[in-house]
Amino acid sequence: MTNPTGARCNLCGETRFRIVEEDQKPQYVLKCLRCGLVCVDPVPDLTGLATHYDEDYYADWLAAQKEERGRMWRRRLEALEKRCSPGRLLDVGCATGTFLQLAQNRGWQVWGTEYSAYAARYAGEHLKGEIFCGELIDARYEEAFFDVVTFWHVLEHVADPLRSLQEARRILKPSGLLIVAVPNVNDLVMQAAYRVAKGRPLRLFTQGEREIHLFHFSADTLRAYLRKTGFDNIRIRPDYGITEYSKKAVNAAAVACYYLTGLKVFNALEAHATRT
Ligand SMILES: [Zn+2]
Repeated sequence: MTNPTGARCNLCGETRFRIVEEDQKPQYVLKCLRCGLVCVDPVPDLTGLATHYDEDYYADWLAAQKEERGRMWRRRLEALEKRCSPGRLLDVGCATGTFLQLAQNRGWQVWGTEYSAYAARYAGEHLKGEIFCGELIDARYEEAFFDVVTFWHVLEHVADPLRSLQEARRILKPSGLLIVAVPNVNDLVMQAAYRVAKGRPLRLFTQGEREIHLFHFSADTLRAYLRKTGFDNIRIRPDYGITEYSKKAVNAAAVACYYLTGLKVFNALEAHATRT
């Protein structure tokens, strides 16, 4: 059986898949036979998910991890500013608004969307920008309004990445900059290290997980999404989140491998692209 759930590939429309994981029924992890996109199907019941992202969830971000997160956001903003000088910036899934705060301090006009009511309220209270609580599509921003739209580890959580990227294109100015960071499904070095350390493969989906990834992107499928939704000048490089030291060391090996061989086998992808 190549399509146990009647799935249709969000990226290319294909209906034939390879089953990657099938022990968490009714959900399957499937890989599209045409474009290679990996997805969870059917979409699990996410009712109540927004309430998981509460004060507790963000407590460490705002305290113990504050300094390291600050460094991460500064690094990301500096990379952005090499491509674009301050203008209108939208951060999709802005959480408590740390990135927007930093950008605002450097002269950007900022907007954010955020699914968690707690985080949206927090960001709204700490920023001069406007924070919309809900999905990007429902915010109904004006066409060709933003200079930059960012999705920092958000696209893997949304039910329809294609529609989110189409909306990002609609609201970006011509030649506006899009940045998308997602985990890399081809994080082969981490997968090998995990298998050695734990004696089993790294899983892509487990029922009841707090942070469910509905889609798993590679450099190729992310690039295909961006081309399909009207972006060019696409550059994909490693993204560095915050993580434990052991994982950092493994990722450093993967990044070194990338610089030596060009293979994109590191933990997370950061794509920069411009609106056509
Ligand atoms: Zn496909």
